[in-house]
Amino acid sequence: MNETDDLQREKQAGHRQQGDALIVVDYTYDFIAVDGKLTCGLPGQEIETALLTQIRQFMEDHAWVVFAVDVHDPEDPYHPETPLFPPHNLRNTAGRELYGRVGEYYRGLQQRGLPSNVLWLDKTRYSAFAGTDLELKLRTRGVHTLHLAGVCTDICVLHTAVDAYNLGFSIVVHEDSVASFNPAGHTWALEHFRTCLGAHIVS
Ligand code: ZN
Repeated sequence: MNETDDLQREKQAGHRQQGDALIVVDYTYDFIAVDGKLTCGLPGQEIETALLTQIRQFMEDHAWVVFAVDVHDPEDPYHPETPLFPPHNLRNTAGRELYGRVGEYYRGLQQRGLPSNVLWLDKTRYSAFAGTDLELKLRTRGVHTLHLAGVCTDICVLHTAVDAYNLGFSIVVHEDSVASFNPAGHTWALEHFRTCLGAHIVS
């Protein structure tokens, strides 16, 4: 068993190592809560425990954890999402707070002083890479493998995955930690990650 095989097995098992980062996409009140402004609803709520477990595992390993979170300004006439979706994740609103026990966990970290391996990343487009310094941050930290989690599998997670692929990052998707309001879109996206982006899909 050589080093490459070991790396491959670790990846398939979804294990974290140096160079891995967990990107938690849009797990906010507006995207998850029953009365969120653009909610995934039940499928989003159902990943809460798996997602929190995954975040805790990365924290225990002192691996990078990035919370990539949509931010919008009300009725921005120049934003491409304005005609497509109702207003959501508006700046300085509770809708942008992380949802449920994930939110409680994050606020607990904040109260004790956010650890240096945790990054909050405001994003204004589907992809966490679009218009942000995420790539620079990951490169300078030696990250080569991105574990993608959060919502929606077929929108913001998908666009983040496509950019990650184009930038040469390896991708791992834990299927229990991603969700969409659209079951067909969710299934399609998981297959696309595997067959077109070379992602390891683990559960
Ligand atoms: Zn948005």
